[in-house]
Amino acid sequence: MSVKYKRVILKISGEALSGSAGYGIDFETVNLIADQIKEVKEMGIQIGIVIGGGNIWRGREGIGMDRTTADHMGMLATVINSLALQDALERRGVETRVQTAIEMRQIAEPYIRRRAIRHLEKGRVVIFAAGTGNPFFSTDTTASLRAAEIDAEVILLAKKVDGVYDKDPMKFKDAIKFDKLTYLDVLNKGLGVMDSTATSLCMDNNIPIIVFNLTVPGNIKNVIMGQKIGTIVKE
Ligand code: UDP
Repeated sequence: MSVKYKRVILKISGEALSGSAGYGIDFETVNLIADQIKEVKEMGIQIGIVIGGGNIWRGREGIGMDRTTADHMGMLATVINSLALQDALERRGVETRVQTAIEMRQIAEPYIRRRAIRHLEKGRVVIFAAGTGNPFFSTDTTASLRAAEIDAEVILLAKKVDGVYDKDPMKFKDAIKFDKLTYLDVLNKGLGVMDSTATSLCMDNNIPIIVFNLTVPGNIKNVIMGQKIGTIVKE
């Protein structure tokens, strides 16, 4: 099997970094993810990464708070996660740049599209932190936006489950997994793969999404090699 994608956006939810605890950062888990990223980077794949912040803070959790302030906190949470992953990657000899959508120049580069593409071409992993920089958006939308901007061929949506089901597979034994869905299926059935803003952006720009299980070692590589795992969302 040959490499199917050359430039990808990998979206990792904040929760995926938290291991079994479900909150905070579990460094053993971060190391395992970094190993998988290193593996595909060494195959010559250009990888942009978007990390969520849900393991630390989500804007909608700030009940009673001003939503914009709560979302600013969420975007800062993604920066914390991004720095943790950058550190794990660099310790493995993988050159990595963090670019933030909200300027914090002492910590990371500001997001500059052309510069991000240049890093990718030079074989550096680019982590897009601080979401889109705007409140009321999600890191799924960030993944869609950055994928469109850098011309990524696909969004790899890393989850703790192995695809999209018709109902929660943790709760229902008879849940059925979809191998393939259209964007409209996701929107109409309210499947919760991605939020509707993110899904619409992918639909309008024809960017396929592959939902797969990140906790299986080697799975990022398997997806990039075109193995039919998880669920693919496309037209
Ligand atoms: N966020 C935001 N704008 C963005 C991206 C993220 O305001 O463009 C905030 C929002 O509060 C969100 C939090 O950052 O809840 C963390 O992101 P997300 O919920 O997407 O993380 P995940 O669920 O993937 O861990």
